Amino acid sequence: MQMCGVWSRHLDCESDMGAYSRILLAVDLTEDCRHVAERATAIAGQSDAELHIIHVIEPLSLAYGGDIPMDLSSVQDQIHEQAKSHLAEFSSEIGIPEQRRHLVFGRPDSEIHRIASEEGVDVIIVGSHGRHGLALLLGSTANGVLHGAACDVLAVRVGDDARHH
Ligand code: AMP
Repeated sequence: MQMCGVWSRHLDCESDMGAYSRILLAVDLTEDCRHVAERATAIAGQSDAELHIIHVIEPLSLAYGGDIPMDLSSVQDQIHEQAKSHLAEFSSEIGIPEQRRHLVFGRPDSEIHRIASEEGVDVIIVGSHGRHGLALLLGSTANGVLHGAACDVLAVRVGDDARHH
């Protein structure tokens, strides 16, 4: 009987090996991220992991190279307010509490890396459009996240590619 106890504890340990304990779901707040979030919540549920969510707001000056000769601060504030309420609504729907929501400014790939290491995340989950040709050469956020990540990255197919499979 004693042996059974030891054996079953050993098996429990083995089944936990390789399970994720902290997951970071990166969302662009488009319709596609629902599918990515479904995967993330399923994986978090299976591994009993803590699920975090991140949305990065790209500064307009970064997106347009600082070439626009006007003050964009009020537009930027509006974008921030919208993203804040959208992220709050989406996170509540999938059950992510406030302290695990990250709304930050900057370049999406580098900010996702920064929050992942600050929070000690062991897998980042992103959507991937599986682009081909020129778009692939130009790169995507999923590519940027994959390169230079200090932890695992899971790219979930979204868009037309996902619907055809
Ligand atoms: P994209 O390369 O822009 O098509 O985005 C692919 C995936 O990268 C999205 O499904 C998200 O998981 C992630 N992503 C893109 N933009 C952002 C963003 N601003 N904040 C957080 N994650 C993002």
